Amino acid sequence: SVTSIKEAIKFAEANDAKMIDLKFLDFPGTWQHLTIPAHRLDEELFEQGMGIDGSSMRGWQSIAASDMQVRPDPTTARMDPITKLPTLSFICNVFDPITDQPYSRDPRYIAQKAENHLKETGIADTAFVGPEAEFFIFDDVRYDVTPYSSFYAVDSQEGAWNTGRNEGPNLGYKLGYKRGYFPVPPYDSLSDLRGEMAMTLEKAGIVVDVHHHEVATAGQSEIGIKYNSLLKSADDLQWFKYIIKNVARRHQKTVTFMPKPIHGDNGSGMHTHFSLWKGGKPLFPGERYAGLSDTALHFIAGILDHAPSLLAFTNPTTNSFKRLVPGYEAPIKLAYSSRNRSSAVRIPMVQSSPASKRIEFRTPDPSSNGYLAFAAILMAGLDGIERQLDPGDPVDKNIYNLPPVEADKIPSAPASLEEALACLVEDHDYLLRGDVFTEDVIESWINYKFENEIEPTRLRPTPLEYKLY
Ligand code: GLN
Ligand code: MG
Ligand code: MG
Ligand code: MG
Repeated sequence: SVTSIKEAIKFAEANDAKMIDLKFLDFPGTWQHLTIPAHRLDEELFEQGMGIDGSSMRGWQSIAASDMQVRPDPTTARMDPITKLPTLSFICNVFDPITDQPYSRDPRYIAQKAENHLKETGIADTAFVGPEAEFFIFDDVRYDVTPYSSFYAVDSQEGAWNTGRNEGPNLGYKLGYKRGYFPVPPYDSLSDLRGEMAMTLEKAGIVVDVHHHEVATAGQSEIGIKYNSLLKSADDLQWFKYIIKNVARRHQKTVTFMPKPIHGDNGSGMHTHFSLWKGGKPLFPGERYAGLSDTALHFIAGILDHAPSLLAFTNPTTNSFKRLVPGYEAPIKLAYSSRNRSSAVRIPMVQSSPASKRIEFRTPDPSSNGYLAFAAILMAGLDGIERQLDPGDPVDKNIYNLPPVEADKIPSAPASLEEALACLVEDHDYLLRGDVFTEDVIESWINYKFENEIEPTRLRPTPLEYKLY
């Protein structure tokens, strides 16, 4: 892989790149890009960057201070597997040209600071992160636009597999309700498409572990990719979403990472696996519960303790909270367990080698901005380690079936984005350590979410309201 500016320029020549694509993120985490002909690639581009109008970026500068620069990170060089022309792609860091400093609301910068902060604490030098971003594959909206698809699922669960079209009767191989995981074709009609997605990911250097249909009937899928260090894993997640959406488009399909597109069927989570390492040694294996170390248990305790505010970054949409309800394998209670998939933190017991010891935080969903979500999870876990927090007893029972008296003893996740943001207002000192998140970032995140998502959602009548009223 490319480690310097000189190597990046050589890499472009070796691959006969015709175009250079500069990708960068807006505040919510969507990729933007500028493209330049390959002859413009020189050392100066890396140092000076390209100018962009930051006021057009969601959640960024006002008109008064809109000039920003995007500077390609040479270590992110990859040939783009989607474009027709041979295109060398870089992920950029965003700079303020006046101060020549990184822009504080650039999500990538926040993730970089989180990695630096981890080293400065002396607790560990590396955080490995492995996200499992689930998604739905639908027929392309160009061909049949039916807004509010889940309206049709209001009445019956059997109808919940409506994908936004009136599908007609089952003529043979439709999957049964919640039976998507995981019969062979022809029931699984998306296997070849996922295979092509997996091959395209590998072409871009992202290692695929496994792909399979997920539980929801309406084309829910999962493609597992290999873990990576925190920043690189967030970069990989951007590539993942980009490649999956573009391969789907080739086949007149559309993909959504929206956490709960279909009422009455499973939603899409982004279970996030975490482990800390120091000097090449894993810090999570040990002699305590489920083969964990004290460090790992403190890390879990930090996540559970800060979960209500943490969810403002890991479950950051109004739709996120429609997934966090009982009955769909999504966690609702802030507990941990080695067995239980209804708890927020699970300790996978499949692999027994100490190096693979990790925790799985199951609450996050793929509508989150990976850079902000992973940085925030790390900060919560580190706070647990620093304060030596105790996660209490594990809950090794199915939480959905607990009698109310027992269930009430376990704290619940917030019920709405509004609630999570209110928790973030109260609890964010842990995010400010090492200047990783700043007061400005927290405040603008909260304002952005209220103005652009919570208020507009609150102001609109929905199809269900027609049925009710
Ligand atoms: N889709 C489930 C969720 O919302 C997870 C299903 C699974 O991977 N076991 O988290
Ligand atoms: Mg999985
Ligand atoms: Mg899954
Ligand atoms: Mg999982």
